[in-house]
Amino acid sequence: MKLHRVTAEIFVPDGLPTEAALARTTDLAVSAHQDDIEIMAASPILECFQRMERWFTGVVVTDGRGSPRNGIYAQYDDEQMRLVSFKEQRKAASLGEYAAQVMLDYPSREVKGGSSLPVEDLAEILKAASPQAVYTHNLADKHDTHVAVALKVIAAIRSLPRPARPQKLFGCEVWRGLDWLVDTDKVAFDLSRQGNLQAALLGVFDSQISGGKRYDQASLARRQANATYFESHGVDTATSLSFGLDMTALILEDAQDPLAFIQEYIQRFNQEVTDRLHRLS
Ligand SMILES: [Zn+2]
Repeated sequence: MKLHRVTAEIFVPDGLPTEAALARTTDLAVSAHQDDIEIMAASPILECFQRMERWFTGVVVTDGRGSPRNGIYAQYDDEQMRLVSFKEQRKAASLGEYAAQVMLDYPSREVKGGSSLPVEDLAEILKAASPQAVYTHNLADKHDTHVAVALKVIAAIRSLPRPARPQKLFGCEVWRGLDWLVDTDKVAFDLSRQGNLQAALLGVFDSQISGGKRYDQASLARRQANATYFESHGVDTATSLSFGLDMTALILEDAQDPLAFIQEYIQRFNQEVTDRLHRLS
């Protein structure tokens, strides 16, 4: 496979040739940064774990150079941070038994800018992996690079002929939870099992956590809070949930504007709050 950045990397934990490793993918997650995948896509990682018929592939778009540093990493320069981020992402891929882990290695500014190169790389990966479901950042995330990646994922899928597109596209939680969605708009991923694996997958990102940001604890706590504060019949026994936004409409209908798409969800939230206050006033 030809990726634009010469420093891009495809890591295959079990050593299968790259093409075969990618071809077995059923579930593919595309994130902006190292550690985002394990925060937002725990459900497909666990679904594919120790299964022969389902395989998870991760794609990280940026290079990890700009990440904050502290503790034993305080003196690391950008290149050392990049190397440690890659190393941590490989550890997660081995631990989670991913089919493959792709690092596209783009500077963040290039992802936020208008470059079409990440879109072309993502399209190549989608063709090689032909996943059934794709997971990425949701369009209401509050991190610019996350939303930029989500838009590039949509563009990459739209560049494929319709029969070659994944069946599902989900927006997931990192920098902003999806608790604000009205309950009927939430896709609830049950994460009540294998808390040990979830903690291990989050815990390998020591360079991010050492700075004092306990992303590991916060992500597990958000899953628990989601379950506790979610009212629904089918999943009322869940003790841990991650919420997704079904963005499949954006890859079924190319004319659908991502902004108009997310505004519909915000409007339903607005309406729910408004209706309640009208009713109770
Ligand atoms: Zn991120």
